[in-house]
Amino acid sequence: MGSVIEILDEKTVNKIAAGEVIERPLSVVKELVENSIDAGATSISVELKGGGIDFIRVTDNGSGIAADYVKKAFLPHATSKIHSADDLFSVRSLGFRGEALSTIAAVCQTEIITKTKDRMTALSYRIDGGKEVSFDEIGAPDGTTFIARNLFFHTPARRKFLKTAMTEAGYVTGFMQHMAINYADIAFKYIINNVNKLVTTGNGDRRENIYKVYGREIADSILEFEAEDLGMSLRGYAAKPVVARSSREYEIFFVNGHFIKDKLLEKAVEEAYKPYLMQHRFPFCVLVLNIDPGLVDVNVHPKKTEMKFAHGPELFEFVRRAVGECLSNTELINKAGLVEEPEEKYTAPKVSAEPFEVLRTVKDGSRTLFVAEDRTSDDPGKDNTEDAGDSFFYEQNDGISEIEEKPAFLEKKDTAFTGKKPVQLDLFEEKIIKPENKPYFRLVGQVFKTYWIIEYKNKMFIIDQHAAHEKVMYERFVKQYKSRNVTSQLLSPTLILTLNGKQEMILERYMESFRSLGFEIEHFEGADYAVRAVPSGFMMLESREIFTGLIDELGDGINTEDVEIIHDRLAQMSCKAAVKGNTELSFKEADELLTELLSLENPYNCPHGRPTMIEFTERELEKKFKRIV
Ligand code: ADP
Ligand code: MG
Repeated sequence: MGSVIEILDEKTVNKIAAGEVIERPLSVVKELVENSIDAGATSISVELKGGGIDFIRVTDNGSGIAADYVKKAFLPHATSKIHSADDLFSVRSLGFRGEALSTIAAVCQTEIITKTKDRMTALSYRIDGGKEVSFDEIGAPDGTTFIARNLFFHTPARRKFLKTAMTEAGYVTGFMQHMAINYADIAFKYIINNVNKLVTTGNGDRRENIYKVYGREIADSILEFEAEDLGMSLRGYAAKPVVARSSREYEIFFVNGHFIKDKLLEKAVEEAYKPYLMQHRFPFCVLVLNIDPGLVDVNVHPKKTEMKFAHGPELFEFVRRAVGECLSNTELINKAGLVEEPEEKYTAPKVSAEPFEVLRTVKDGSRTLFVAEDRTSDDPGKDNTEDAGDSFFYEQNDGISEIEEKPAFLEKKDTAFTGKKPVQLDLFEEKIIKPENKPYFRLVGQVFKTYWIIEYKNKMFIIDQHAAHEKVMYERFVKQYKSRNVTSQLLSPTLILTLNGKQEMILERYMESFRSLGFEIEHFEGADYAVRAVPSGFMMLESREIFTGLIDELGDGINTEDVEIIHDRLAQMSCKAAVKGNTELSFKEADELLTELLSLENPYNCPHGRPTMIEFTERELEKKFKRIV
């Protein structure tokens, strides 16, 4: 380090300052699009090449910059939006620091073409790395076009921090999707490498844009609501809890035009959804808030993705109540349908998959997207799945609950498991469940189209065919995936998935793994991907959920590069997909199932921890019948 102190030249200062605002193509796009919005544009197009590292073009039909101010706009701290610090309390524009143009111009090769209505011609102004190159009069329509080429071209160190073009584009895509939803009255066109990625009409319909970005399933389940109180107004788009996600990514907040991440708002929304969601499940919910600018501070973060609220507790309550009321109004309808459900479960179940099995497979909650409609209509906040299964057992068990003597291991298991008898088999017992013992197992028959009774020496087992089937399938899939011994099954029709920017990134990152596991996936158009084939065992109906669920999960655990995780998830999901509820099993099939179960290392629990079988001893029955005392 030298000892001579010098004043840094302007160019250097700009570069330093730029570090705060401009760190990647996304930052450039964000600043430019916000400028376009501030300029009153009703139509904005954004174009990227090379992930925005090579080329970004933002075109708007806004006010344009008056000829006298074109150069001035590129000076540090040049802004037309505020005049003094006091204005910060009433600022309604998205920008106000006057930093963007000067910093962007310092870190890439820029050209602005801008025309105000009152002039015949447009002006083109080019700057390379902060140095003026040209200033010409040219022909162009009203509005402004901004081109940024070769981001960080003369600062290779900074450029090194950029990720692949694909990843950088993914970030921009996420931003554009949010903008499209937030600003539904602006017609956006978003183009990557000459391909239209997202095109909106600007007709003001947010739901339409939610559909374009997040697809049909979510858009169809959106509940729209409005609220107003204490200088705050809110438009909400809350998805029904059935489409719950495994990350907070879909809790989307816009405050005074800015997309923000905010713990208080997240908490308020989650609090409202709490009765309807399992743990570790998060809602899809878009909130568009308008708050008196005097009561929020946007100036806490250079990227304006955080805010300070003057009346936090009031805001929290306002949001919680608005979302909560929207959901509870809806919930009433669902509850009505639920009343009959237990009946269905306990009496003759139909051959179709629902409702019992669908509910049961949901147990694994946080790990999959199998959120069955039935579940959300159930008792709020409870995993009624398990309840349903258990209460079934309880009913059966009540009669034998006075068994006095029992082995210590059963006692222990009792409390650990359900506190009810009979109990799950225990691993500490001498292992009965092994292939060599198969000849001693006598399959007696099936009850309730679900449970198989099996006699083994002086014991009676009851096997839950679904749990057992799931377990067997799970193990089979794990083995298959591990050995890459997977056969594909063509989907007809092809499944089209609409992914958001982050999901696209994740999909691209794991594409090879997916392919090697039997998926055939291709980019289709825009944010759409075509899934043409899936590993056999997947059911067409559920492929969509399986897939997006898996992608979201992979995205959640940032360092889950491990393919093992994909194996495990796929196995879990595919076994769920493969196992159908309440289907009748022939004797022969049940026998095969039993054989396969016996061969497993841990046949006692299904992949979600529920028991596959329970046991009664002859002695217990004798006691029950008072044959012995
Ligand atoms: P800020 O947005 O914080 O004011 P910027 O550096 O982003 O600062 O922009 C400087 C000024 O240039 C803005 O205040 C605005 O007057 C003008 N400007 C920038 N982009 C546009 C645009 N697309 N249309 C019209 N005016 C613009
Ligand atoms: Mg700006």
